[in-house]
This record gives sequence, C-alpha cells and structure tokens, in this order.
Amino acid sequence: MSPAERAVEHVTCLGCGCACDDITLVVKQDRVAAARNACTLGVAWFGDGSASHEVRVDGRSTSLEQALARAAEILRAAKRPLVYLAADISCEAQREAVAIGDHLGAMLDTLTSAAAASVLAAQRRGRAGATLGELRQRADVIVFWGVDPATRYPRFASRYAVEPRGLQAPDGRRSRRVVAVDVGSSRAVADADARVAVAAADELDALGVLRAIAQGRVASEDARFHPIAELARAMMQARYVALVADGEPAGPPDDLAPDRAEALVTLAQALNGPTRCALATLRGGGNRSGADAVITWQTGFPFAVDFAPGYPTYRPHAGAAALLDAGEVDAALVIGSPASVPAPVVNRLTRLPAVGIGPRASAALFQPAVAVDTGVAGIHESGTAFRMDDVPLPLRAALTGPPSTTASALHALRQQLGA
Ligand code: SF4
Repeated sequence: MSPAERAVEHVTCLGCGCACDDITLVVKQDRVAAARNACTLGVAWFGDGSASHEVRVDGRSTSLEQALARAAEILRAAKRPLVYLAADISCEAQREAVAIGDHLGAMLDTLTSAAAASVLAAQRRGRAGATLGELRQRADVIVFWGVDPATRYPRFASRYAVEPRGLQAPDGRRSRRVVAVDVGSSRAVADADARVAVAAADELDALGVLRAIAQGRVASEDARFHPIAELARAMMQARYVALVADGEPAGPPDDLAPDRAEALVTLAQALNGPTRCALATLRGGGNRSGADAVITWQTGFPFAVDFAPGYPTYRPHAGAAALLDAGEVDAALVIGSPASVPAPVVNRLTRLPAVGIGPRASAALFQPAVAVDTGVAGIHESGTAFRMDDVPLPLRAALTGPPSTTASALHALRQQLGA
C-alpha cells in the first residue's frame, strides 16, 4: 500500500443480505481504490465511493434549511402522504422515518412490500429459523430449493452454509451433503452431491409430499413419490438440515409465491420432528431486513403500516404500490437510494409532489420537488444494519460523504414538522 493510501478494516457490505462484515476498503484520495474480500457484486456496490452532494428545490440548488422547509410544506399540505423506505440507509435513519410517518398520519412502506410472501408466511405459521452462524456450525445437509446464491448472494456458500468448517462440520464442504432442487427453470447450486428436478407445476405438491413424509403420514418408501421420497429420506436422516430458499426472487410477480413460502415454512417445521431444520430465506441488500426490524419494534408490524387511523394499522395487501395505483396518495417522502425503488412505484411517484432524501436523491427518476443527497450507509455513514438473518451489524463510515447524514436530515425535517 502506498503512503497515500489507507485501509479501513471490518467494513460491512450491504450489496446483498449476506452483509459481509470482513471487507477491507483501500482508500486513496477519499475514493475506494479496492474492496478486499468483496465479491463482484460487493465491488460494484462500493463503486469508487463517490457521492453526489446536491440539495435542490424544483431543480435549483439551495440550502438544506430551505429544502427542508419546502419539504415540510409539501408533507404538511398532503391529506394522504406516503413515507417510503428504500435501500442503503441505516436503522437510525429508518427510526427517524417511522417517527415522521407517525406524526404525519402517513402510510409507511418499504421495499419488503414488493416481496412479502416469506414474511407473511412466517407471520401466519411461525418459522423454524436460525442465524447464518448456526447453519455454518451445525448444518450437515443443505438443500437449495430452486435457488443458486452464486449470482445474487455470492458469498453465502463460502461464508455461511456450504464451505466453512463448523463445530459439526469439521471438514467444511466435505462434511456436508448439498442437495440441489431445480424447480422449473430455476436452477439450484451447480456444486451439489445430488440433484432433484421438480416441474414448476408440481412444486407445491412436491413440498406437500415432503411434509407428509416428514410427519409420517406417507411412507418414505412409497414408490409413487420417488425421487421426492429419496430427498425426504436424506433430510430426515440428517443431523441438521438447512433449507435455503430465495425470499426475493428476481423476475415478475409470481402468483405461487405465497403458497410456496407457506409450504417451505411448514416443511421446515415438520422436519423438526424427525431431525432439526432451519429455513434460511435469502434477502436482498441495502438493509431491508433492518427496515423490517425497526418498523416492527416501533409499530408491531414489519412493513405497510398505516398511521392514518391515529394508531399503527397493518395493511400488508394494500401497501405503497396499491395505494399509488388507487390514486390515494397525494405526496410522498422517499428515503434511501431511489435506484432501489421498484419501477411500478417510481412510475406513480412521477405524478406526485415528492421529497427525496437519500444517496443520489437528486438523480431520482421520479424527479422529486425537494431532493437532499446524503451518503450511503456503510460507505459514508455509520450506524447499524441487519443481516438477512436479523443479526445487527455495525456500519463504518469509511469515506467522507455529504455534510448531512440521512438520519440528521430526517431529524431536522422532523423538527420542521413539529414532531
Ligand atoms: S456476498 Fe453480498 S454482502 Fe457479501 S460482499 Fe458480496 S454483495 Fe457484499
């Protein structure tokens, strides 16, 4: 490392829900020169660490005070405001956002709303889960259900569930049996000890048969269900099964998602009869699990919380997208990276007076009337974020960002609003 460079260790990457906290950033002239240990996705997430510093009202640069005063005007005038939490903000900022939503009597929603099936299934049925650390230490059979983490959760296998040595997996990968279940065109991991192919149309039936066998309602020798019965046997003979599924699959909305999520939850529960099993649901990055946690501890619900009645009300099937579609929302406060906001929400926001506070808010496609650029949590801002398994991790501010952090800008807005 040259004298002009410095290393910042133990940085947490929020490029995906793995939230790897072993990243070393090499910083040169306040730019990221290298992100050691990060995967390709993580390197892209850190980028060169540059941040835009704009504060604008109606496209013109202004002071933070004037921007927040205008933001408060817009939000105060709204009859049905929306507060929307996007990616790349800390739990500290999320907490300020909840307070603003409460004060405004707003609809409060997050990225989770667009991929809520696994959260709703867990709420309906409970969930046999575990930290990624427990899977690393104990899992000896790992079943990837229609997901290959290599693309969207690249270090999941090397850090948590397949390769690392653990207390009950002393030889790492060699101590574990990996089963890939390919569902329709969704291929599971390439490096598997066994593969099972399930037609997309048969997926729910296959999960139902697995559950019935685990509960002893169907004999595992039943030839009608071979090779599902064989998979069931492998799981039931394991000491500890990790059942890995994607909580936020890419692609268009999937009608089967709620039933699939519930079938996976109940299969993991059933397997805790003959053996031990934890369901690991893969989640995206940007601290979206943190938003679920913060909103739950503040309101009792993880997302889609409506403060309009004067108290928090859960509307999981009528979140931001549905309200925007119905034309109910008349102003919006969008907090976080606008690039992470789903396209249907962006399209509706373009027709509303909006306030954007977050990393590169001034570049938002929905062109907010007020834009306050802040830093990216984990690059320019410190604080707390949650990994996909709900383990909180510290964030380090490795680079200098815009003068106002997301949390401090929101706090100042909250004061403007008189909250
Ligand atoms: S696996 Fe995810 S959290 Fe880890 S370095 Fe890659 S993108 Fe970042």
